[in-house]
Amino acid sequence: MSVCPFRLLPAVALCRIITAMADNDDRPIGRRDFFGVALKKLLAPAADYVDGKINALIPPDAREMVFPRIRLRPPGALPESDFLATCIHSGKCAEVCPVQAIKLWEDDDTPNARTPYIEASLQACVVCQNIECTRACPSGALTPLTSPDQIHMGFARMDYDTCVRASGEDCRICVEKCPVPNAIRVGEDNRIEVLEGCVGCGVCEMYCPTQPNKAITVHIV
Ligand code: SF4
Ligand code: SF4
Repeated sequence: MSVCPFRLLPAVALCRIITAMADNDDRPIGRRDFFGVALKKLLAPAADYVDGKINALIPPDAREMVFPRIRLRPPGALPESDFLATCIHSGKCAEVCPVQAIKLWEDDDTPNARTPYIEASLQACVVCQNIECTRACPSGALTPLTSPDQIHMGFARMDYDTCVRASGEDCRICVEKCPVPNAIRVGEDNRIEVLEGCVGCGVCEMYCPTQPNKAITVHIV
């Protein structure tokens, strides 16, 4: 008899929460939380076992429903649930990024703790020549990439009402700054048009001059 994977999704989430709690066991243990930590340690192997079994049952698309990506990950990142399970928080990707685009999540009590992310409006990935972060990753959470067209961080989306071109300015900063070929252009209707080649690096969002909202923003796909 087969089990519908979707019926197991709450169990996956529970396992992840338990595992994340158990991950904190390297912190100093006070008397007050001693029993809590002991319980987490007891449950962690069971959580890992069930988590592994369920991961094998659930197709990657469904796993993304449990762990939707909420921030841009660096280039080459595995699907979110696999990324969270594989990243060992070494910070190597952040160390090698030539523009310090990669930040590390705060050390909170979530599965995201100390994982790398990019906030494009502050500092985008500039698609450096060797895609260094993917080569520096020691765990495989970032797959080594050899060319920009292998990057799929997200996709840029236009808000035409916010774009200053709507009021007659000939701004084309996003097109000029984009580091990837065939990703963005001024269309025949004089509007900015994002093309299939967009890799979601976020350079356009970083340089877009509109305030407080950017006319072009990168969305996770
Ligand atoms: S590809 Fe290069 S610029 Fe982009 S995040 Fe990785 S190291 Fe930084
Ligand atoms: S359109 Fe924007 S997000 Fe897409 S590749 Fe160009 S700069 Fe990067």
